[in-house]
Amino acid sequence: MEHFKIAVLAGDGIGPEIMAVAVAVLETAGKLDGLTFAFTEAPVGGAAIDATGEPLPAETLNLCQSSDAVFLGAVGGYQWDTLSSDKRPERALLGLRSALGLFANLRPATILPQLIDASTLKREVIEGVDILVVRELTGGIYFGQPKGIFPEKKGMRRGVNTMSYGEDEIERIGRVAFESARKRRGKLCSVDKANVLEVSQLWREGITKLANEYPDVELSHMYVDNCAMQLVRWPKQFDTIVTGNLFGDILSDEAAMLTGSIGMLPSASLGSSGPGLFEPVHGSAPDIAGQDKANPLAQILSGAMLLRFGINQPKTADRIEQAVLKVLDLGYRTGDLAAPGTQVIGCKQMGEQILAAL
Ligand code: NAD
Repeated sequence: MEHFKIAVLAGDGIGPEIMAVAVAVLETAGKLDGLTFAFTEAPVGGAAIDATGEPLPAETLNLCQSSDAVFLGAVGGYQWDTLSSDKRPERALLGLRSALGLFANLRPATILPQLIDASTLKREVIEGVDILVVRELTGGIYFGQPKGIFPEKKGMRRGVNTMSYGEDEIERIGRVAFESARKRRGKLCSVDKANVLEVSQLWREGITKLANEYPDVELSHMYVDNCAMQLVRWPKQFDTIVTGNLFGDILSDEAAMLTGSIGMLPSASLGSSGPGLFEPVHGSAPDIAGQDKANPLAQILSGAMLLRFGINQPKTADRIEQAVLKVLDLGYRTGDLAAPGTQVIGCKQMGEQILAAL
């Protein structure tokens, strides 16, 4: 019997609805494999601002730091939109990333055969697509110095951001990417702009050097502009993609949208040690909150990533992913995925179907 401590931060909007369903799924799937969990809830985002005045209270952070994994719903909502940027719900995400040292963001984009018509692209282009984007999350142009808006001559100002990567940062994200590719189909494409940027030249050098340690992984390089095109031209050529913070921000959204269904996309953020953070890609969907309309599958699949990448329980992760496929095969959909011939059910019922499939 293995036991794990999970910090549960449901957050705002649809967060609590989808989290309740996903926690029940983890509990049930875990039991089947002899795993038990201690789930401890804590406020984050807008809920935490209302309770304590802070988007990421110290007690919440302490709980995360002393857990085996952090399971997050979503944060944000209209009622907090007028707060200053350092007090907004979304601030909690940055706080968690930096406090937990989460430098690697893993975003799968998988086309499920049952949902192929949800994509805006042609069936033959996207059928069978299964991509993992590994994005560097704590370096690059979002954090490089100098940054700011500086006065120049004649009353003009200049905005500056600096894209910079140290060799150590390149190596650690590279390792996560090679290890991930190894667990998949063994192909890694590193994306950069080495034809123009020195920082990318160092990136390419660092990733190429690492390849010697992973002879079983086939490494290729691609310029970011070409990658943006190839993702919509022939996405099946990609297995695992690794890239820096800015390029990864854009390409992971582009890859995700090949699937056409935001309610299905999970993510994982990992550090070198300590707990990882697992959350759906979508936000708090305030427009449908409290109506039992939300699709809980991205949250449930984030739970599967928690098992696979957070606490190394791939068998239980597989179980959950199989259960999701089975329920989709049975024709059940939440409203966001409604299509002719399917049966539309609510968030809670979707959870019950997944439990039944497990
Ligand atoms: P959103 O992802 O919340 O919603 C976009 C659209 O997708 C909405 O129409 C919504 O109803 C729908 N949608 C999203 N998730 C769904 C689900 N699981 N099931 C069914 N439909 C779903 O993005 P937004 O509207 O731009 O942002 C809303 C709030 O969420 C904002 O406050 C934003 O800052 C915040 N946000 C938080 C995160 C996060 O917590 N990681 C990410 C993005 C946005």
